[in-house]
Amino acid sequence: MLKRKHIGIIGSGVSGLSAAATLASKGYNVSVLEKNDQLGGRLRQFKEQGFTFDMGPSWYWMPDVFEKFFNSFNHTTSDFYKLVKLDPGFQVIFKNSEAIQIPASWDQLLQLFESIEVGAADNLKKFMLGAEYKYHVGINDLVYKPGRSFSELITSQTLKGFFKLQLFSSFSSHVRKYFKDERLIALMEFPVLFLGAKPSDTPALYSLMNYSGLKQGTFYPLEGFSKITDAMVQIGKENGAQYFTSEAVTSINYTDQINIKTITRTINVDGMIASADYQHVDAKLLQPGLNNYDESYWKTKTFAPSCLIFYLGINKKLDKLQHHNLFFDEDFETHANDIYTTPRWPSNPLFYVCCPSKTDPSVAPLGSENLFILMPIAAGLEDDGTMRFEYFKKLLQRLEKFTNETIEQNIVFQRSYCVKDFEKDYNSYKGNAYGLANTLMQTANFKPKMYNKNIKNFYYAGQLTVPGPGVPPAIISGQVAAAEMIKNLKYTNETVI
Ligand SMILES: Cc1cc2nc3c(=O)[nH]c(=O)nc-3n(C[C@H](O)[C@H](O)[C@H](O)COP(=O)(O)OP(=O)(O)OC[C@H]3O[C@@H](n4cnc5c(N)ncnc54)[C@H](O)[C@@H]3O)c2cc1C
Repeated sequence: MLKRKHIGIIGSGVSGLSAAATLASKGYNVSVLEKNDQLGGRLRQFKEQGFTFDMGPSWYWMPDVFEKFFNSFNHTTSDFYKLVKLDPGFQVIFKNSEAIQIPASWDQLLQLFESIEVGAADNLKKFMLGAEYKYHVGINDLVYKPGRSFSELITSQTLKGFFKLQLFSSFSSHVRKYFKDERLIALMEFPVLFLGAKPSDTPALYSLMNYSGLKQGTFYPLEGFSKITDAMVQIGKENGAQYFTSEAVTSINYTDQINIKTITRTINVDGMIASADYQHVDAKLLQPGLNNYDESYWKTKTFAPSCLIFYLGINKKLDKLQHHNLFFDEDFETHANDIYTTPRWPSNPLFYVCCPSKTDPSVAPLGSENLFILMPIAAGLEDDGTMRFEYFKKLLQRLEKFTNETIEQNIVFQRSYCVKDFEKDYNSYKGNAYGLANTLMQTANFKPKMYNKNIKNFYYAGQLTVPGPGVPPAIISGQVAAAEMIKNLKYTNETVI
């Protein structure tokens, strides 16, 4: 009996899990090696005193990408978790505690825009037509390309509508062609924050994010984002994939086979997908001479921000909060400059508060709220307890002002998370949270390559390679890397056992 090809996968974030499930379902022998004691990477969860905290993602956008993934295993999302469409999708808090709630209904959203600026409803319709086109071409087609050559990007659709994709105009000027009111501009620009760059440095192509957030809507998987991890692991296990936690990979070598050393074992594999942070694998795990890029390459790259996070358990309800709350009550440009232009701890930061207990009673004890407060900061900042404490006080004060409630004495659990934790937990370069920023020169084929140029059947997946950061793109990245492996490492002459 011949042996199946053995694939090693480093890291169990959604990109690694997606690759594992895909390869296992095609008959490969798959071993996932994860350094942490939990699977899921940035989608990990922890529980304390009756609260369940999602540690990373909280915005479920592009639901069709998740659905398409599960459909490829003859499943549907609802086989694994219940998805709720949030209404309002989110609220934005401006100066003087003015809060604008974004309705789930498209008609109500048009009315809201028109009530803020005359003519904005028609302009939103026009803006969204372009955004929808980009979404369909981008998400249904372009993001599934491995980024080997530019010819991949030339399809009948992209040739026909190349200029409509707006690769070369900036997001910021694109939005300003449609809207004048500062609040509407902030609303339209905020999704770009997920892409890790200033709107002025982000191609207008990414207005596809507005289509997802404002037209498709904002969703939430009941019981939290780890339901996605559980679903992907279940599919992998049903197809024979094996998962090893607390199994940090310490080095990778290559002679006639790929040789992986972990803290407990050495294994040889026929192919490998590295879904841990790209720079860590390339610079720290691969033997010298086998890596794709050296340190000088990474120094020239624009990284997405890191962030300071507080996970709080509050023993009372906070009526003025919605599930998603964006505090845009300070100047966006000043904070963006503190992240990208002159990296430093921000003077007057914007921040985000997630309160999933508004939707999901399972994440907090009865009568309590589960809060996740996130402030984006530049990657690589000096992270010490003093700064964490200082910002905790500042953000809490602003939250108390908006909610018109005292909160500090109602905190029954608190934990902070910042640059040092990202480095320690994920081996993340400079403690970045979301990988590489999606600037023009770091989009599509300009991203770090998916294949290793020195080792056959060695691919990278995850938020630092194509198509980019975010849960849906990371899932796609794992699928694309797996598809490349399947194309190049066939087992046609072998019997699958
Ligand atoms: C705070 C935060 C909020 C976010 N919010 C959103 C959101 O709302 N919506 C959204 O779509 N996206 C969001 N994102 C982005 C999204 O979570 C990521 O882009 C995505 O999860 C990345 O998946 P990945 O597989 O590339 O990497 P990861 O999830 O980081 O997985 C990589 C894995 O590799 C492991 N690893 C590292 N080194 C080794 C080693 N030597 N050996 C073995 N294993 C190793 C790590 O432990 C980790 O488990 C957020 C991210 C963060 C951090």
